[in-house]
Amino acid sequence: MKILLDNGHGIDTPGKRSPDGHFREYAYNRYLAFRIREQLTAMGLDVQLLVPEREDIPLPERCKRVNKICKQYGSDQVLLISLHVNAAGNGKEWLNSRGWCCFTTTGQTKADALATCLYETAQAQLPGHRIRKDTADGDPDLEKDFYILRHTSCPAVLTENLFMDNQDDLAFLESAEGSQAIVDLHVGGIRRYLSL
Ligand SMILES: [Zn+2]
Repeated sequence: MKILLDNGHGIDTPGKRSPDGHFREYAYNRYLAFRIREQLTAMGLDVQLLVPEREDIPLPERCKRVNKICKQYGSDQVLLISLHVNAAGNGKEWLNSRGWCCFTTTGQTKADALATCLYETAQAQLPGHRIRKDTADGDPDLEKDFYILRHTSCPAVLTENLFMDNQDDLAFLESAEGSQAIVDLHVGGIRRYLSL
């Protein structure tokens, strides 16, 4: 099984930062991807960063990279997790929205099972935090046809790891225990999915 980690955005992406400008989403996504890779690799799993560059790589190129690997390994032998930090506004002001969530494409796919595993570990790793879900279709994930999910042929999910324009969420993200919890929920969720 090949696990692909997609760290969203790049150093040249406009916006995508905290209202005071000190927190940059592209940098945090990379930090998460490095640490998740480090932990999964230490457990003997095959993990690859989809975007090792610091610059933003356009979504069609990201998908091309994924689908090339899917051709090599077989789509059911590849998993894609796209890492992001959420924002409620346009980055100009601190807002109240908080919490963690995971997206899949609309409809039932293998990605739903991966998302459910991530929700289970998120629940355990983020006590006291809001877990944003939609259980109307029988599973917790939110569904939205993000380009990276729609145009890749393997099971793919996108996690929004709390809100960078909420001061409490951001303080947690930047704390040692907070960032460890975010890493651990991905590591745990992926392992749970693989043992199904
Ligand atoms: Zn993002």
